[in-house]
Amino acid sequence: MSVRVRIAPSPTGNLHIGTARTAVFNWLFARHQGGQFLLRIEDTDLERSKSEYTQNIMEGLKWLGLDWDEGPFYQSQRLALYREKIQELLDKGLAYRAYETPEELNAMREAQAARKQAPRYNNQHRHLSAAQIEAFEAEGRQAVIRFKIEDDREIKWHDLVRGPVSWKGQDLGGDMVVARAAALGAAGGDVVGQPLYNFVVVVDDADMAITHVIRGEDHVGNTPKQILLYEALGMAVPIFAHTPLILNEQGAKLSKRDGVTSVGDFQEMGFTAEALANYMTLLGWSAPDAQELFTLAEAAEQFSFERVNKAGAKFDWAKLDWINSQYLHSKPAEALLPMLMPYWEAAGYGFDIEADQDWLLPLTAMIGPSLTRLKDCVALGHFFANPTMDFSEKAKEQLGQAGVAEAMQSVLAALQQTPITGVEDAKGLINQVTKALGVKKGLIMRSLRAALMGDMQGPDLVESWVILHRRGFDQQRLEQAIALAHP
Ligand code: GLU
Repeated sequence: MSVRVRIAPSPTGNLHIGTARTAVFNWLFARHQGGQFLLRIEDTDLERSKSEYTQNIMEGLKWLGLDWDEGPFYQSQRLALYREKIQELLDKGLAYRAYETPEELNAMREAQAARKQAPRYNNQHRHLSAAQIEAFEAEGRQAVIRFKIEDDREIKWHDLVRGPVSWKGQDLGGDMVVARAAALGAAGGDVVGQPLYNFVVVVDDADMAITHVIRGEDHVGNTPKQILLYEALGMAVPIFAHTPLILNEQGAKLSKRDGVTSVGDFQEMGFTAEALANYMTLLGWSAPDAQELFTLAEAAEQFSFERVNKAGAKFDWAKLDWINSQYLHSKPAEALLPMLMPYWEAAGYGFDIEADQDWLLPLTAMIGPSLTRLKDCVALGHFFANPTMDFSEKAKEQLGQAGVAEAMQSVLAALQQTPITGVEDAKGLINQVTKALGVKKGLIMRSLRAALMGDMQGPDLVESWVILHRRGFDQQRLEQAIALAHP
């Protein structure tokens, strides 16, 4: 039987990093097994689901390179099937209508809390008489449909990550709600309202012939309930794999408080899709040969659940940064430039990828090896954004030293005689001025850095000069520096 797995996000927010990591593991397993990877949008919560979140989720998955073979399927379009299956449970006597009001359920929970008992539904409406039902209906109470869970049941499965897992029926919180707001039909027949997650997920996974349910560990407690539903509906139970949670550096579940939750947040911070996808493969899995840099396709070749950890996966920013820098450093300038452009645009630098190629490519080639995150290009590109610079205190100090104004004047004069076309010309010009003035080369270099870059730190000076020259900024900056050196 061919492997079929799925990612089943709820569109109640942007693509979450945890969902993306689950998608990565599903994708790796599907590709390793030559199986299918499906996308199912779990949008039964009509109030919280939004189409812009669905868009964001799909774009995020595509951006990461997680292509799906079937779908997207939308649960909101499959209600007829769920209702049919709920009816089947009712007809088999495995589910029933329960009529407690929210206040009554609250009172039940409070009484349990007072007795120091775990909250659970006490199954009190399991055997209502026809007269009781009639009375509740006449009162206008809204029923829910509850699926019977026997306390003495033991539910076991072999989890591909966690090994043998077993649960007792009595720990599942009593008969579970599988659908909301079910009104009795005109002829007294059941009309099923909104079906709930634990039920629809079972119907869909069975209907879509899912062989392996791979999802986050936070769903472990749902799995025994779902297994009981598979059995009740006479459906084959899939294999389960519950992947470890992603933890922050303090060992708590990664959350909004850590400042990043969605894949878009990481994109904005300047991580590339390849690096983030690569890093996510390592969040709970390791390659047999401890290799750490690979494409998703390469990771898929080696992927197996035997090497997925049970323990939570700590999010390691230093490693993500390292992986990102490896990808950035290996990119040719032609490939990197379009990736930097959005950051420069957002910074308002006004660079034009078409018109400015002659200096944008050398700029990209120069700064590429020092980037950790794409966003770092903003600080480095800043030197090249405007004709003039603000001089830092250190730069002013340098320019104020004896002989600096004359030296910069000589550079400017030489530049007006022979414009520089490349790094060799610039070096030649520096040597020429150094010799003519009989000063130390270091003085010229430091002064030029102060004059051209406005600061004593920054990217390679000679390469920067060539770029500034192509932009037509270098003479202006030299003039500005000379004026400053000669108040
Ligand atoms: N919609 C659920 C979620 O986003 C899916 C869980 C599952 O994979 O069964 O967590």
